[in-house]
Amino acid sequence: MRQADLATLTADPDGLRRRLEAGDDATLLLVLVQLSGDDRWLERARPHIRGPMNYQVDMPAELAAEIRDALAATLIELACRGRPLPPVPTGERLQAMLSAAAGETVDADYAALMHEELTADTRDPRRPQWRRSPPVERLHNFHVLIIGAGMSGLCAAIRLQEAGIDFTILEKNATVGGTWLENRYPGCGVDTPNHFYSYSFEPNHAWSHFFAKRDELWGYFEEVADRYGLRRHIRFNTEVAFAAFDETTARWRVGARDATGAEMELEAHALISAVGVLNRPKLPDIPGREDFAGPAMHTARWDPDFDWRGKHIAMIGTGASGQQVAPRIAPEAARLTVFQRSPHWVVPNPNYFEQVSDAKKWLLAHLPGYARWYRFQLFWGFADGLYPALQVDPEWPDQARSINRVNDRHRRFMERYIRSEIGDDPELLAKVTPDYPPYGKRILIDNHWYRMLTRDNVDLVTGDIDRIEADGIRTTDGELHRADALVFATGFHASRMLWPMRITGRDGIDLHDAWGPDDARAYLGTTVPGFPNFFILAGPNTGLAHGGNQIFMTECQVRYVLFALREMLECGADTLEVRTDVHDHFNRRVDAMHEQMVWTHPGMDNWYRNDAGRVFAVSPWRLVDFWRMTAGFDADAYRFTYRNTARA
Ligand code: NAP
Repeated sequence: MRQADLATLTADPDGLRRRLEAGDDATLLLVLVQLSGDDRWLERARPHIRGPMNYQVDMPAELAAEIRDALAATLIELACRGRPLPPVPTGERLQAMLSAAAGETVDADYAALMHEELTADTRDPRRPQWRRSPPVERLHNFHVLIIGAGMSGLCAAIRLQEAGIDFTILEKNATVGGTWLENRYPGCGVDTPNHFYSYSFEPNHAWSHFFAKRDELWGYFEEVADRYGLRRHIRFNTEVAFAAFDETTARWRVGARDATGAEMELEAHALISAVGVLNRPKLPDIPGREDFAGPAMHTARWDPDFDWRGKHIAMIGTGASGQQVAPRIAPEAARLTVFQRSPHWVVPNPNYFEQVSDAKKWLLAHLPGYARWYRFQLFWGFADGLYPALQVDPEWPDQARSINRVNDRHRRFMERYIRSEIGDDPELLAKVTPDYPPYGKRILIDNHWYRMLTRDNVDLVTGDIDRIEADGIRTTDGELHRADALVFATGFHASRMLWPMRITGRDGIDLHDAWGPDDARAYLGTTVPGFPNFFILAGPNTGLAHGGNQIFMTECQVRYVLFALREMLECGADTLEVRTDVHDHFNRRVDAMHEQMVWTHPGMDNWYRNDAGRVFAVSPWRLVDFWRMTAGFDADAYRFTYRNTARA
């Protein structure tokens, strides 16, 4: 921050002090410690901050006021004396600060990660830098194709552009945004807090809510695409059908079709798939689906002209999409019948419906470090802080109920919460309380789901569906549940990763043959043996199921991909391909870790594992581990060819 900005910030001391009221206690504490250099505040605050899940900062009012007074005074003093802001803390000191704010000890890796985030405004360490200039001609002739202009495709494009590497994005839709473009069902929004769920290099201090809805999210990606001038690199309405690696030219040939049906072929030295995992809607395999007489739609293919008001709606599926759409439409529908095959665990979040106040937006935008420290709070509370709740303790007695002590504590908390929402209705309580450990399926944030279920015009059906008929859904007990319209909140073909594209690697290997029908695997979720110069964003085992932030994972992957391309370009390699032994070893580690984690628990189904029970979709690592694994490029894990001459 410049001195002039600091002077402006402190020009109205009363106004500054008032605005500080809107700040989070723990975040302000970190700002104060950084700016004042006085670590004694950490000791005073420590007893009042408790770790995640029930993450609570119970700062006594006097201490909270003292922190704000001291912070205002520190800022004014820095401004008066014309002193520069103290440097970003490092090492053990930073670790101690983070531990105090997290309410529990965080390990040293967080200090390194957080240092990167805290310095991102001045010199973004995730932006790729050349170590030595690649031959100019080589760089000019090098072209990358990206498939998809959603969150991850845009991220890759931005980083390639910064590195001066030429690229084109092929996008099947008419504009950018991916998931946030396609999903437009009523109530659609994010359930990761937005000050975390945004690119680290493009913070948005103006989010209207802590958990934004679809239009605002989509708008964010639209704005980012414009800010970086990406549209001129994107061919919209162009869907990739196949990609094949040509060993003689060491290039990818990519076949696509535009909106008119015209086919085209493009070439590239490297190919990045950024198509996501949850983009091919899965309709349920229920007999009679085609017989239904009224409108019927999947949540991800919502008809914007469909008016649910006054109609009797039947909705199948109670995952993240169903839990968002149903509470939104129930008050205006004549009747809503929800078909639940299995319940999800649901947690409340006090900020879920809240708007971000102007004062808080101001703090995020102007108070030095506030936005970055706040991001750490979210990082911890919504991601890695929850990691212990996912680990199976073999000694834990009642494995059907919970998998360890922390997991059981979370279960008790959620059970209490469900009871408080449902009230005195034992039948409903039994229907909505999962019989498997928390986090076995994706955890959901309560979107007034339980309150909705207590409405007079809402029915929850837990019996098996027999078939769909012209005027409703018949359950196996013979009852016909009449409906004017059907909503399929039935999820996606997640296990058919990259389908329906045909990707052919070296020696004519087809990616889907290599993977089999539902067993996608890759090294670091990104590279696959036999597929040179091919990178998968949001690839196998990079999803997050307990919390976390998919954008963070994507940024890690994109940095890694840029490192790989840098290695090729600087060293003059034609191809790079992950070694089979490295890939296999990595996947054995993934599987071994998953064996100890909640997602392989036999008590429930989830979309993270395949028919054989192998978890292919989600990451077994903490976010910080994946960050560490992708923060450098392990060239030894790869085989390179130079002018088509293989060198180990
Ligand atoms: P999902 O989690 O896969 O849920 C599908 C639902 O449909 C489940 O309740 C499933 O029951 C049910 N179902 C599927 N086939 C059925 C059948 N034949 N008969 C009866 N019920 C059937 O899908 P989703 O809700 O679209 O969410 C998918 C993922 O998208 C989420 O896990 C999340 O990662 C992401 N998402 C995120 C947000 C957000 O951030 N707010 C919102 C939406 C989606 P079972 O559970 O018994 O299989």
